[in-house]
Amino acid sequence: MDCVFCRIIQGELPAKKIYESERVIAFEDIQKAAPVHVLIVPKQHIESILQLPDDDTQLLAELQKAIREVAALTGVAESGFRLVSNKGKAAGQTVFHLHFHILGGRDLELTLA
Ligand code: 5GP
Repeated sequence: MDCVFCRIIQGELPAKKIYESERVIAFEDIQKAAPVHVLIVPKQHIESILQLPDDDTQLLAELQKAIREVAALTGVAESGFRLVSNKGKAAGQTVFHLHFHILGGRDLELTLA
């Protein structure tokens, strides 16, 4: 298996875990772009947001809950945060296993691209 996030989920690579539920895990980004930089990742290998099944209500709910919990646990629920999911190389996706970046802990630039 050459998916780095699958290897983290399997426990083959270390990561600083922030939150976990049955089907979702959240861990710190290895190269933090902000004081708070956490990746929210479904345990199932899903390539990108476009492969996320819209009828998997359990997974969708767990992802939403993970966003809320990570925001609270890292202290950015009040101060504010950015939620980003890159789809495709042109958008900057480098790990082809769906993930949502939560960025915060400082004032972020107002640019979207
Ligand atoms: P993308 O560029 O696909 O939107 O985001 C991938 C993110 O995964 C990058 O911010 C990168 O720093 C992070 N990353 C890549 N490899 C590892 C790793 O082995 N461990 C952790 N914790 N993060 C990683």
